[in-house]
Amino acid sequence: MIEKKRQLLKSIEEAELVLVGLGKEFIVDDSAFSNWELFQKWKEADKEGNYLWMEPFLKIVWMKEQEGLENQRAYENLAKLLEGKNYFIVTLATDDMIYASGLNGDKIVAPCGSVSKLQCHCTEEIFYFTKEMEQQLKNAVLSGNLAECKPFECPNCNELLQSNVISTQTYNEAGYLPVWEMYTKWLQGTVNRKVCIIEAGVDFSYPSVIRFPFEKIAFFNQKASFYRIHEKWYQLTEELKDKSTAIACNGKEFFMNLFV
Ligand SMILES: [Zn+2]
Repeated sequence: MIEKKRQLLKSIEEAELVLVGLGKEFIVDDSAFSNWELFQKWKEADKEGNYLWMEPFLKIVWMKEQEGLENQRAYENLAKLLEGKNYFIVTLATDDMIYASGLNGDKIVAPCGSVSKLQCHCTEEIFYFTKEMEQQLKNAVLSGNLAECKPFECPNCNELLQSNVISTQTYNEAGYLPVWEMYTKWLQGTVNRKVCIIEAGVDFSYPSVIRFPFEKIAFFNQKASFYRIHEKWYQLTEELKDKSTAIACNGKEFFMNLFV
């Protein structure tokens, strides 16, 4: 493992461009959400279930407050690793935690969406979960008077706004497409250049977003080096054997312990 780590650091150092794909192993484990103080307070104040609409928004607030989470350490190390490099990151996580690190938000695309962006099915418009909304919600829960906080509705049709993420039935892709366009332009610039490709924690969910296209880029680029890091799905295809390295390790843990 130490040898492979060293090799990765060297590849990054020598690379002109670095492409990173982060998958399921980076998705935040939200099992502790229901133990959260505010969650409990909300449950207690809403015995009749009249304010169920608050739950997904509370979850966003919870995620924002999880500063000590392992994910953050992994992202900070990734930021350190990529410092001064020309990079782009594609992530399957939708929790937005990556944006709270030292990484450049303009160089991150999240095609599965983003919890702090909101959408409605009636329009392509993207709305945001603002600080004011967050404060209103928290105040209402803390005071125990949930009626204090009006539901967060679409200004056009007055239906409840939903997170702009892929699990929302009418997922609106307008939320990430502008950055995706920048990403595809950036990819065109990797042709014939020394690119280091790191795929971490990616399994076979949404394989057309990271797994398959990354393999293709690595295959066609003569100067590419490719690293696949996953606890279980680290295997590499035969054609990539010469320029790739498989690392059997959880992607998030790998980055958490990168400089240890
Ligand atoms: Zn609407």
